[in-house]
Amino acid sequence: MIIDAHTHRYPEEVINDPARFAQRTGEKMWLNMVSPQDRPSLQGWANREEMLASMDAAGVRQSVLLGWYWENQKTCLEANQWHRQWMKQDKERFIGFLSLHPKIPQLLDYLKRAREDGFRGIGESHPWAQGFSMQDREWIKAMEFACESGWPVNFHVTDPEGKDYPGKILTPMEDFLWLANELPDLKIILAHAGALYPLKNSIPSNFYIDLAACPLLYPASIFKELIEHVGSEKILWGTDYPLRIYPATQKNPDFKTFLDTFIDSVDVTENELRAMLGENFANLLG
Ligand SMILES: [Zn+2]
Repeated sequence: MIIDAHTHRYPEEVINDPARFAQRTGEKMWLNMVSPQDRPSLQGWANREEMLASMDAAGVRQSVLLGWYWENQKTCLEANQWHRQWMKQDKERFIGFLSLHPKIPQLLDYLKRAREDGFRGIGESHPWAQGFSMQDREWIKAMEFACESGWPVNFHVTDPEGKDYPGKILTPMEDFLWLANELPDLKIILAHAGALYPLKNSIPSNFYIDLAACPLLYPASIFKELIEHVGSEKILWGTDYPLRIYPATQKNPDFKTFLDTFIDSVDVTENELRAMLGENFANLLG
């Protein structure tokens, strides 16, 4: 079963007028990312039907709906409501993660309710963009909760040497390493191939790597290299849909282009491929 470990989804209100939504919620950084002033946007948009049709066309059974790294706790609450609704509407197709901010009132109660409502993890998180420290006390409580609940936590990872993009904010690797050491049972997913850190360094046993947006950032040869360095059991295929990760050839976002490219560029057994395309993620959820 193919699972895309890294997607985002927005309601019609946001798709129809992202600027208005950003103004209402005070999410300037997000707006700059989805509609930058100085260059064409890479953001694509898709409603429920388009997303499901694109998943079907690629044979993707489930997508992990990641939250955005909203700057304001109120936006996190609002966006989590979208997920709550979408998970219920298409139980078999969407796995919901939470947008989280340590300023959410009664954070632990909020997390417990989210767990009861069927949420399965936290992320995509970006403490530096969201304005808090990895060692924030409330945040650490949330990380402990994730640990106890068997929830993976997905973090955006910025490549300091990689291409520039709107809203690029660095994500120091030492903070991820600190967290991995502090909570050795916490399942930490580093997005965007972990900025290729694993190609040059050994990684803690509780790190996992997703491949979201990689076609935009790196040549396809990195997939083989990553498998050699970290092993296929650590790799989670994911797209960053509805981002247009093949802007030269792709007008609308899809799942199939990256799926086909990935399969073509790796040299692995059927079992290893199945693992990276979904089993590893399913095992992470337990
Ligand atoms: Zn990201």
